[in-house]
Amino acid sequence: MRKRVNGLLWAVLAVLWFLFTTVLLFGILSNIVNQDRQEEDRKEETNVRRNLPQTRISTTTKRMIESLLEEKTARAYKFTRYSLDVQKSRRLDAHLRKMLKTHKRPKDSYYSFNVTRSETLSVTRDVIDERPDECKKRMFNYSALPTLSVVTPLHNEALTTLLRHVHAILNRTPPKLLKDIILVDDNSTLSYLGSDFQEYLKILDSKIQIVRNTQREGLILSRLKGEVMTQGDVVVFMDAHMEVCEGWAEPLLERIKSQSAIVVQPDIAAIDGDTFSLYTGFKVKFRGGFGWDTRYSWLPLPTYHSQFRNSEWDPIPVPILQGSCIAVSKSYFHTVGRFDDGLEIWGGEHFELSFNVWMTGGRIETMPCSKVGHIFKSNKYSFGQKKDKNYIVAKNNMRVAEVWMDEYKHIVRAAVKAWQNPLPVFTDADWKSIGERKKMRRRRKSESFNWFLKNVIPEYKIPSKDDSFFGEIQNVQTKSCFFVFDDDYIGMTSKCETFVIIPENSFAFDNSGRLKYGDKCVGYDRRTYLLLITECPCKRGGKDGITWSFTNDQLVLTEKSETLCATQANSGFSIHNGKEIVQLQACDKKRKVQKWSFQFHFLYK
Ligand code: UDP
Ligand code: MN
Repeated sequence: MRKRVNGLLWAVLAVLWFLFTTVLLFGILSNIVNQDRQEEDRKEETNVRRNLPQTRISTTTKRMIESLLEEKTARAYKFTRYSLDVQKSRRLDAHLRKMLKTHKRPKDSYYSFNVTRSETLSVTRDVIDERPDECKKRMFNYSALPTLSVVTPLHNEALTTLLRHVHAILNRTPPKLLKDIILVDDNSTLSYLGSDFQEYLKILDSKIQIVRNTQREGLILSRLKGEVMTQGDVVVFMDAHMEVCEGWAEPLLERIKSQSAIVVQPDIAAIDGDTFSLYTGFKVKFRGGFGWDTRYSWLPLPTYHSQFRNSEWDPIPVPILQGSCIAVSKSYFHTVGRFDDGLEIWGGEHFELSFNVWMTGGRIETMPCSKVGHIFKSNKYSFGQKKDKNYIVAKNNMRVAEVWMDEYKHIVRAAVKAWQNPLPVFTDADWKSIGERKKMRRRRKSESFNWFLKNVIPEYKIPSKDDSFFGEIQNVQTKSCFFVFDDDYIGMTSKCETFVIIPENSFAFDNSGRLKYGDKCVGYDRRTYLLLITECPCKRGGKDGITWSFTNDQLVLTEKSETLCATQANSGFSIHNGKEIVQLQACDKKRKVQKWSFQFHFLYK
């Protein structure tokens, strides 16, 4: 019996041993095979890598792979879009039609755009997405973006453009990112902006809030009031007749998330005030700056920019915000001291914020992939009971100059005086609040205005104290401006715009009768009488007997007893043959090609 048991035990052990060795052997073998395979894979991979440049993939295949990859990323970051349910939409439509019927509104001329046309267009209309592909393809990690609030002040706006503004924001902002839309009604008097309007908003969406000023406070104070009510991480200040385009918010939010000290704006496109078509998608060729007379002006993108920009996606640093759409994180907005609340009604706040941000270590940028349309119009509303628009705008801008522009404020004062004379005066209360703002500037260890000019707009030209006229010289008839050919002769540009400043075409007319170009002067070729750049007499240590005067829009050159006038003409000489040039000709008050205007005029006394 015992022998039998022993035999059975041995048999079981033998089976187990067999199984164990088989498994072990298999394991070792498969490992060797795997290693071989991995080795082969690796070889193949290096081969592939090595061969990659030679590998030919057809363009179709490449496109297919690319589109597959895109689809994958797109799926990964999909977000739920806003949708207006059909019933609500019908209700709103009926409500709007009733409002337009029951309330009388001012004529189109009051708004200075075609409101009648606007009323025929849907308030939820689509606008063409003209963003370049680079912008459309960009994917965002929606869960990581900050949330946003829109603050829109409004004073007697047209109802339909205002509603289009609100619908566009709701419709084209990822709902998860949009916290609220705060409308600040700045004491509007038009009846259709009353309770019926409020009712419309109530039906539309609970994210919209409206707060009403019991007296006119102006756009700056209204924006400040609205900002306090916002729930989002980022606040976007907008005008009530703006229409955001597809994908407008993401580029702004992503940029703000990546930089703590930054204020950004979209590419602000023009909505035609007559046809309401929206011009987006053009390359951003200009950046916002300022004229010495404090007018908002555009400067060409300097060439030194292009070396830093690789795609349409890249931000464009801009000296001055355009003003109608400003995006900033709420915490940074508070760090820089918000908008200056001493600015009245309208104007100056975008200059102020821009100087403030740049000079205290921040940046201002345009995100060209973000497109927002704006109806550019002239302001027809009143600016307050006693003062007119020019007075208030001049006062605001001089306040900004007083706080931020250091010694350059004298130039600004002299240039403002040319369009607002006498200059506005500051009250004691004004001086006190200006003092407070200056204190804040010192506390924030601001750079000087000279630093701003040298670092933010190095290409900009600065007038000197004895210049009475400065900037581009425009022909009254042809609208062309002086420019300097490589051989120093003066030619004429094809056209020049009032609000575009081409710094290298800046000339100066000074009190001692000189027409200057940088540290050179304008003289003439004694054979052809064509204008050209020469050394200045004072530089050569003697007088060359030429005196310029600028009277009745004529640029008159006097030499001995002879007087001649700068005239735009077509060159009949071998010098720039057939091109538009400037020649001295006999003065004739009736000839408009002899009439000129300078961009800036300074009145120091
Ligand atoms: N606005 C305001 N109160 C004012 C003046 C303007 O609330 O006293 C609003 C106006 O309705 C608009 C925004 O501020 O939504 C900017 O004004 P506007 O569009 O006239 O300025 P512009 O675009 O001409 O610079
Ligand atoms: Mn506007």
